[in-house]
Amino acid sequence: MMMVGNECRQAGGRDMILFEFEHENPVLAEDAVARLHEIEAEARFMAGGTDLIPNMRIGIAKPAHVISLTRIPREPMAVGADGWLRIDALTTLSEIEHSALVVGAAPILAASAHTVAGNQIRQRATLGGNLCQETRCLYLNQQHDFQFVEPCYKRGGDCCYPFPKNKKEVCWSVYMSDIAPALMAWGADVTVLGSGGEVRMPIEALFTGDGLRPMTLNPGEMLRFVHMPPAKPHMGWGYHKSTVRGGLEFGIAVMALTLRLEDDLETCAEASIAIGAVNEGPVKLVDTVSAMIGKKLTKAALTELADMASREINPLPHHGFSKPYLRDNIRVHLRRAMQTALARAQES
Ligand SMILES: Cc1cc2nc3c(=O)[nH]c(=O)nc-3n(C[C@H](O)[C@H](O)[C@H](O)COP(=O)(O)OP(=O)(O)OC[C@H]3O[C@@H](n4cnc5c(N)ncnc54)[C@H](O)[C@@H]3O)c2cc1C
Ligand code: SF4
Repeated sequence: MMMVGNECRQAGGRDMILFEFEHENPVLAEDAVARLHEIEAEARFMAGGTDLIPNMRIGIAKPAHVISLTRIPREPMAVGADGWLRIDALTTLSEIEHSALVVGAAPILAASAHTVAGNQIRQRATLGGNLCQETRCLYLNQQHDFQFVEPCYKRGGDCCYPFPKNKKEVCWSVYMSDIAPALMAWGADVTVLGSGGEVRMPIEALFTGDGLRPMTLNPGEMLRFVHMPPAKPHMGWGYHKSTVRGGLEFGIAVMALTLRLEDDLETCAEASIAIGAVNEGPVKLVDTVSAMIGKKLTKAALTELADMASREINPLPHHGFSKPYLRDNIRVHLRRAMQTALARAQES
């Protein structure tokens, strides 16, 4: 079915979406991909619409065609013969956070899904939409007229409000998904469906680290599945999302990690740490993890490692928080998340 949609109006009568777009509802993922591939940059997928619709209202996205994914049947979550849990990208966050299968097989995913927005949004928002969400900055995601005298680079304009010395091709908007760092720390893969078929890759391959074009997906490529590897013996995980009030809001910083202990239950055999909501994409810590492996994870060692992590990360000052504050936040909360991961690993 095809229809024209620009009928949304605020109570006061002001238009909320100021342009016309065509809306299509394919029933097969392959058709959605073929259609978007055909139309190219003028079209966008819409899953739950909780990120896309607000972005259309404030003019960040102006698709001439919206290809809805809501009629495509979702494949049920399942653990395959290889032990990996496969989740359809169209699965809602609410379903994920309450799934006994996810809680048992990949608890870090359920925990991170639970922290996204509020319950109503999670009933509609999907895993794929969360991972493919637009980057944000304090100036971009506002509707106040005084902040939109001129559109910034992200909206096709000629200025960058918080970083006026940035060149036109540089945008330091921040990638805010609460789920992406959890998937990265757990070692997840994703399957992308394109016109040539499905390709499976590590989740890291999705992110460019560029605020203007944060995802590597080409027009016509759809995130189809997320795959979570099985947990290993003596493995533990930690997850923390820092927020100002702990309510419905985006994170100040998001910390996710996994670690595996040797049989002595003290020495770190493997580790993975990902930090989100502080850069243009989620960041994997390399130096801190190499310092962690082979180390006995005493209280003093965790303090030292969290301190090292806070220096390894280079957060963008955003949402009004300075770089030193963001580093401090990560130092304190990552140490606590490491302690939780250690305790879980010792109990498993
Ligand atoms: C009030 C509010 C609070 C929020 N708080 C948080 C928060 O705390 N943490 C957080 O992480 N996020 C938060 N979000 C943003 C979050 O990304 C969305 O709520 C949601 O997860 C997006 O999912 P969706 O299915 O609605 O995506 P949509 O809005 O449908 O899509 C988002 C983007 O992804 C693309 N897309 C969607 N599905 C696919 C797919 N399968 N393959 C390829 N591209 C796809 C779309 O084209 C679009 O560009 C918040 C949003 C709102 C409105
Ligand atoms: S950082 Fe990016 S999104 Fe924010 S004002 Fe500058 S160009 Fe726009």
